[in-house]
Order: sequence, then structure tokens, then C-alpha cells
Amino acid sequence: MRKEYDAVVVGAGPGGSVAARELAKQGFSVLLLEKRERVGYPVRCGEASTTFEDLQNFGPIPEECIESNINGLFVYGPDNTKIDYYKKNVGVMLNREKFDPCLAELAVKDGAELHTFARASAVSAVENGKRTVTIVTASGTENVKTKVVVGADGVESLIGRMAGIPSGQKPKLTCCGVDIKVEGILTNPEYLTFWQGHDWINDGYIWSFPKVRSNTTNFGAGFLIPSKEGPSILEVTLDWLQKLFPNAKILGTVGGVIPVSGNLENYVLDSLVLVGDAAHHTNPLTGGGISAAMRAGRHAAQVIGEGLRSNNLSSEFLKKYESLVEADFGKSHQKQLKFRRFLLEQNKKDQVDTYHVLNAALGKDGKKLDLLTHPLRTLRVISAYRKFK
Ligand SMILES: Cc1cc2nc3c(=O)[nH]c(=O)nc-3n(C[C@H](O)[C@H](O)[C@H](O)COP(=O)(O)OP(=O)(O)OC[C@H]3O[C@@H](n4cnc5c(N)ncnc54)[C@H](O)[C@@H]3O)c2cc1C
Repeated sequence: MRKEYDAVVVGAGPGGSVAARELAKQGFSVLLLEKRERVGYPVRCGEASTTFEDLQNFGPIPEECIESNINGLFVYGPDNTKIDYYKKNVGVMLNREKFDPCLAELAVKDGAELHTFARASAVSAVENGKRTVTIVTASGTENVKTKVVVGADGVESLIGRMAGIPSGQKPKLTCCGVDIKVEGILTNPEYLTFWQGHDWINDGYIWSFPKVRSNTTNFGAGFLIPSKEGPSILEVTLDWLQKLFPNAKILGTVGGVIPVSGNLENYVLDSLVLVGDAAHHTNPLTGGGISAAMRAGRHAAQVIGEGLRSNNLSSEFLKKYESLVEADFGKSHQKQLKFRRFLLEQNKKDQVDTYHVLNAALGKDGKKLDLLTHPLRTLRVISAYRKFK
């Protein structure tokens, strides 16, 4: 490691690798730090993501990173109601064990310096326009100076908190999730399948995501951290797996937390920005955060690049990054948050109505007629949502 870099990026997840690459492409010296021995491993994710075309904007992404193409969503709701939403190429299933290293390699190819087994353990205040990052490696501790720190250190982010951003997770706005890797394909291989609502998990959902290339399924569950004692998320997930697919052969289990608060209000300071889960960039309805982290990484690199060139990395200037994120997905995440709250506050009967209306609205043309055949139900759901908003 050198003694000084233009930028130090902490965390080689999707957000950090994209930020590091985009900065390196502009000709800046970039240090990318990953505390784990292997980038992307172990995978703590359901691995469903955006379309192949979207991903290629951050590529080239080789085919082997893609497990399968997704052409629709199937949601089992309360009282056997369901939503069957067909949309060709709506997303893909990733193999993050391959995808995350691929993004990090692209960053390295474009000039970033990647160190694994290198944990950022402290970030100093700004002194003479620079911060010092303390890095613990297998061979000892080093101090590196930098004009800007990008905290892309995921949901357990400490970088923000070390520097003074209250980025910790609040129980009511955080989901705990478990993903169980199961042998074979459990549900429709072209669909993401969910179970949600009063008969299933109300303040979250159960998922079954098919990985066709490796002939496995990611079966998992996530719900808001409960306020009172009860079975653990692992117990709940295993229980549902047993009920739904009693013969499922479990290959492995991972767990983690997911911020579902909507973006943090402020996630820049002088010479420091947060990216991805560290800034709570996950979608508060679905919990998906891979694509948002990459988009945020790119926005951060664009603004930091301008700041480095004009020698202005003040928080006022870096706020431009927050504005870009807000316009890109911040506003839509706020809407998703409202929609989640709307769903959670409904009783079972209202939820059933909502499922019927959503199924008709999202379905193919034939199903849309249902909205007209049941006009009162449709109006009731629309007006309830309007009132809620
Ligand atoms: C159970 C579960 C299921 C999920 N399913 C999906 C899904 O299906 N689709 C989806 O889009 N999202 C899903 N997510 C969310 C998704 O995994 C995250 O939103 C995404 O990984 C965020 O990317 P990131 O780059 O911000 O952070 P991360 O991918 O978490 O990367 C952060 C990196 O920083 C490293 N790091 C942390 N601290 C330090 C340090 N001090 N020094 C050096 N390195 C450090 C970590 O080791 C890690 O590699 C799921 C999450 C969970 C827990």
C-alpha cells in the first residue's frame, strides 16, 4: 500500500467496487479495501436483481454470473389470493459468488488497487484537507492518507458512525433475513415466488428464487425485527420450508439484516460519503439493494471526481451526490416505504381486496377487466391508499 491515495473505498461489495472503478477510470489513485479474504464470499443474499441490460451498464458482466432470467413475479397472499405478474426479462438471478468478484476485477483492471483481508478500523477527522484511514491487515496496521473516503461497508457500516453520521440500524426500520440454499428448483424457474400477508408473514415475506444454472433455490424469509420475544427468523424460515417443501434438501444457510428505512437523510460529510447499504439505499418494500448500491457508487464517483478536479470535497459540494441519488431512486424508495406501511396496516379482509386489485392491475389484459367487474372493490382499495398517503 502507498501512504496516500486520492480516494479510499471501504468495502468491495457492489457499491464499493463500482465507486472504485468509476473513480479509477477518471485517472485518480484509488485504494479498495475488503475485510474478507474473498470478495463476495460468503454470499448473504437472495441474489435477485435487475435486468441483464441494466447490469451491463456496469459491465461487461459475463454470462456465468447470471443464473437465470426472470419473467415474472408470483405472490401468494392471504386467503389463497395471488398476484401473477408476467413481464418478460423483468430481472435476473445472480450468482454473487461470481458477480461480486467480477465487479471488483473490473475496478482493478481500470486501475484501482484492491486489498483483501484489509479492514478499515478507524477514520480520522479532516486535517489539512485529508482524512487518515487506519487499516488492519494480516501483516499489521497501516495508516493511509486520502482526500476522500467512500464508506461502502454494507449494512453493518461503521465508517459513517466513526466519522459522525448516525447511520446505525433502528430495529423498527430494519429487516432480519435468512436465506437457505436448497438443492433443485422448488418453484416456477422463470418466476420469483413470494408468500406474504396475514396467512404467511405479514411484516415481511417468504421467498423462493430459482438458480437454474446451478440447479438450486434460494429459499428465505425476512421480516421487520419484532418488538417482542418470539421464534427466531431462522426457526420461522425452516418451519415454512418444511411446511411448503417437506422434502427440500438444505445445502447451506446464511442470515443478515437489511435496512428498510429509506435512504438516510444525510450521508455525506467533508471528504466522506456513504454508498449502498451503508447509506440505507435498499428498497424499503422489497429489501433489494444490489442495483441501488451500484447506481449510488456511480453517482458518488461522478461527484467526487468533479470535487477532486476542482479541489472541493466539502460536504456542501458532496451534497450534489445525495441529490443525484434522490432523483434516481430516493423518491421511488419513499413511495415504496409508504406502500409497505399501507400493506402492513391493513386487516386481512382489506389485504385480500388489495391483492385482487393488484392482480388485476398488474395482470395481462384479460385480468384488467376484473377492475371494472368489481368497481366498488377497486374504488375502496384506491381510496384507502389515497387516504393513507
Ligand atoms: C438475507 C438477505 C437477502 C437479500 N436478498 C437480496 C436480493 O435478493 N436482491 C437484492 O438486490 N438485495 C438483497 N439483499 C440486500 C443486498 O445483499 C445488499 O443490499 C447489497 O449487498 C448492498 O451492497 P453494498 O455494496 O452496499 O454492501 P455489501 O454487499 O454488504 O458489501 C459491503 C462490503 O464491505 C465489507 N466491509 C465491511 N466493513 C469493512 C471494513 N471495515 N473494512 C473493509 N471492508 C469492510 C464487507 O465485507 C462487504 O464485502 C439481501 C440481504 C440479505 C441480508
